[in-house]
Amino acid sequence: MNVEEKSTCAVSNSPDSSGGPETMKRQNYLEWSEYFMAVAFLSAQRSKDPSSQVGACIVSQENKIVGIGYNGMPNGCDDDLLPWARSADDRLDTKYPYVCHAEMNAIMNKNSADVKGCTIYVALFPCNECAKLIIQSGIKDVVYLSDKYHCTPEMEASRRLLDLARIPYRQFHPKRKMIVIDFDSIGPSVERECNGGCTPALNDKH
Ligand SMILES: [Zn+2]
Repeated sequence: MNVEEKSTCAVSNSPDSSGGPETMKRQNYLEWSEYFMAVAFLSAQRSKDPSSQVGACIVSQENKIVGIGYNGMPNGCDDDLLPWARSADDRLDTKYPYVCHAEMNAIMNKNSADVKGCTIYVALFPCNECAKLIIQSGIKDVVYLSDKYHCTPEMEASRRLLDLARIPYRQFHPKRKMIVIDFDSIGPSVERECNGGCTPALNDKH
């Protein structure tokens, strides 16, 4: 892969950088896998974990998103009262006994009856606990981006479980290094007077 292919994608409705006529469809649109992995990464930005922000996105066989999650403390548990440390003399003073991983939250947040046959897109290779949840929920495919904890016992156990359950896992290799969300891409964020009969917010001065 050459350097040019690892380009940045600004998600916008502007004419394509390829210079093609605007009567043609855009060429630089996100592929499904890029889109779902990007949704996982966007979700991760909701995480309050200071050291690790992980997102997950579950997708049906019809390419519909049925669940999104990120790592965080359980619902109703004040995340200002629970520890976020990675290490401490007492394990109870670390985040590990408390935090819910992105995969768990994506599964629990599902907006469909179940996630059987779905694919989960996740930023990090799932740990053994999440592998159990993935298997039991009926998810049939795992797409991950980073495998930075590959050599840990948790990941080894995870691979064993996924292999035995015959759930394939594959690494996602992004074609672009970065996807930028530009809120200005759709036009000015300040509402202006419209000749088409709209009621512009700026005129609502009473
Ligand atoms: Zn996990």
